[in-house]
Amino acid sequence: MKLRAPPRVRCGGGCSLKTLILATCLLALPAAGESLDTLSAFETVKVADGVHAFIARQTQSPLVSGNSAAIVGDDGVLVVDTGHFPSGTRRMIAAIRKLTPQPVRWVVNTHWHPDHVTGNSVYQDAFPLVTILSTQATREAFESELPKYEVAPMKAQLPLLREALRTGKTPRGKTVTDAQRVSFKQMLEESDSALPDMETARHLAPSLTFEKELRIPLGKREVRVLFLGRGNTAGDAVVYLPDTKTLVTGDLVVYPVPYAFGSFFGEWVETIKAMLALEVTAIVPGHGPVLHDKTYPQLVSRLLSSMVTQAKASVARGETIEQARVKLDIAALRAEVTRGEVELGKQLDQFVLDPGFPRAYREAKEGPLKDEN
Ligand SMILES: [Zn+2]
Repeated sequence: MKLRAPPRVRCGGGCSLKTLILATCLLALPAAGESLDTLSAFETVKVADGVHAFIARQTQSPLVSGNSAAIVGDDGVLVVDTGHFPSGTRRMIAAIRKLTPQPVRWVVNTHWHPDHVTGNSVYQDAFPLVTILSTQATREAFESELPKYEVAPMKAQLPLLREALRTGKTPRGKTVTDAQRVSFKQMLEESDSALPDMETARHLAPSLTFEKELRIPLGKREVRVLFLGRGNTAGDAVVYLPDTKTLVTGDLVVYPVPYAFGSFFGEWVETIKAMLALEVTAIVPGHGPVLHDKTYPQLVSRLLSSMVTQAKASVARGETIEQARVKLDIAALRAEVTRGEVELGKQLDQFVLDPGFPRAYREAKEGPLKDEN
């Protein structure tokens, strides 16, 4: 699959034309595109008293939503991440209102990816006094990165797919394969279904930022919002509840395969280490089900660490990125992550190794990278 994304769009938090094209070419495809109802579906999971996770349904679609969590205190609610689909966010708000008469006072954005922050304005419309907060790096990415994921430019590029289906040629003049034809149709169906909904929200940046730690009292309950270091993005925040030993990680932890677009590999390993030093009995990841032990984050850490170590060794031997990529050996870790599932193997390549190893190699050569590009 070699069809290139149009310029100005790059892989990121789960929603761009490039992501759509790559993902629909690589993943197993359903017969037809998923409906908005399916894409925006979530399960409400009680993690502990007053701690509820909204676990987004995992589909084969590249149009995904991140998980959210609602922490209910005596005098207000704190929400972690706001989802990708405004209609889904409105259903989350309805679910919160069934749990408590208290208003949502705080929204924490764990990072800037659109599948975690598109619902911000929906919360503000419902709770005008809500404060949305994040790290400073995440706040800045609302201006530097997020505009690339506005619906309008995505919509403007869909005619390229329609044209490819009509002419049988990709924008680069290559013949559209049968698999591409199926994937492009799926992509168009899902875009037609989801983009009008996504257009009903506006990207609303956090109005409060913090550096290392913010302790928020929710009545008797204390919520700790922490920046433990860069990792998946330049500004990953995690939310920790000492009273229930619950940790909400954003995309520092994504199950069953990490997302590693624009990530900081060496620092990510350290950040996971700091995260796992916390006493936890439940982990709400950025995507995937609630985890009840540290086994999976530890596996992710070992995977990232192996990539970092091997990139450093290649650089020390004077190898090019191409030579380093050929030599990279993660066979044992691949077996642990994929458990023999072919699709997970494809996702591991697409979401971790292809976007990530070149960055691990650059880090080995240049030291810590400046930004996510
Ligand atoms: Zn995400």
